[in-house]
Amino acid sequence: MTASQQKKRLSILGSTGSIGVNALKVVENLSHELTVTYLSGNRNAELLIQQARKFNPRAVAIVDDAAAGKVAAALPDTEVLQGREGLLELAGRDDVDLVLNGLVGSAGMEPTVQAINAGVDVALSNKESLVMAGDYIDRLLTQTGVKLFPVDSEHSAIWQCLTGEDMVDVERLILTGSGGPFRTRDKETFDSITVAEALKHPNWKMGNKITIDSATMMNKGLEIIEARWLFHLGPDQLDIVVHPQSIIHSMVEFRDKSVKAQLGVPDMKIPIQYALTWPRHRPADWEPLDLVRVGQLTFEAPDLEKFPCIQLAFEVLKEGGSAPAVLNVANETAVYRFLRNEIRFTEIPIMIEKALAAHDLIEHPQMEDILSLENWTQHYVNQL
Ligand code: MG
Repeated sequence: MTASQQKKRLSILGSTGSIGVNALKVVENLSHELTVTYLSGNRNAELLIQQARKFNPRAVAIVDDAAAGKVAAALPDTEVLQGREGLLELAGRDDVDLVLNGLVGSAGMEPTVQAINAGVDVALSNKESLVMAGDYIDRLLTQTGVKLFPVDSEHSAIWQCLTGEDMVDVERLILTGSGGPFRTRDKETFDSITVAEALKHPNWKMGNKITIDSATMMNKGLEIIEARWLFHLGPDQLDIVVHPQSIIHSMVEFRDKSVKAQLGVPDMKIPIQYALTWPRHRPADWEPLDLVRVGQLTFEAPDLEKFPCIQLAFEVLKEGGSAPAVLNVANETAVYRFLRNEIRFTEIPIMIEKALAAHDLIEHPQMEDILSLENWTQHYVNQL
């Protein structure tokens, strides 16, 4: 076998987004052991073309039809798949070792399912996959034997803390969150929060959707649901602690009250690389953690009155069935309305609550139920 055949072959979905761009930096860091077989972008033709020229994938997919012509013209020797169907086809190809799903929002769910059905392990950054279809995907993983590797920093931390441990010894998982940009802002002024203010995250540089989710703290709520499916624990074993410095990425408490934590600078390349190189921690020369410079690590309880989205997430987790899918799509639709300046920041949780109240719960939703609920919820929240 030649060296190139031994490299781990990656399909990177959402390569032009924040996770994808960081993932390609990891590939550059470990170019002797990782290789890019497929890339997909949504509509950023220029960046996708640039990435394809640099990493030479076998094929690329571009969702936006208008951008597809530009990509095809610029890459005459590369197969170019187009549209939502093109993305789904690419996600289902089995001639790779790992699919990194860095897609944004509920659009990332079906590609996860496609990859699992193709028998390919998935490094999952798209938390919405498990929020929307946790029960369905969980059963599919059991049937296929495919593995999910968490990319979200909190879940990567928990995964690392659980190495060598027995799940029956786990008392609870403690997910940390920075508290976002409005942790210390007076609740009375939340109505006047602007898009620009909400997009200023104190510690992490991320895409717009997740940055707004961090500002409402729905991101932590979605992560609680994601943790439920990744680690198979009940809502009463999942806790949130606000930790403004974002150095401890999460913790595991065991039954003897011993607690393990995973620390690092807030840099997504670290959890991405671990998901791509598990079970190894391969070398990297990016900024190391300097605890003396950080000085202090502080903790506080999340303010559920200021951030009602957290409470909503715990409620749908207890309700189960189709409720988390509706929460996820209602949140996403409301977040995009906020980003378009159509609604106030404080209307995001109100719209989610309305959608949850209006929907008829399905206890064991199938894929077609989830997809039709997605349409229903988008329409419902857009006409509020
Ligand atoms: Mg996270």
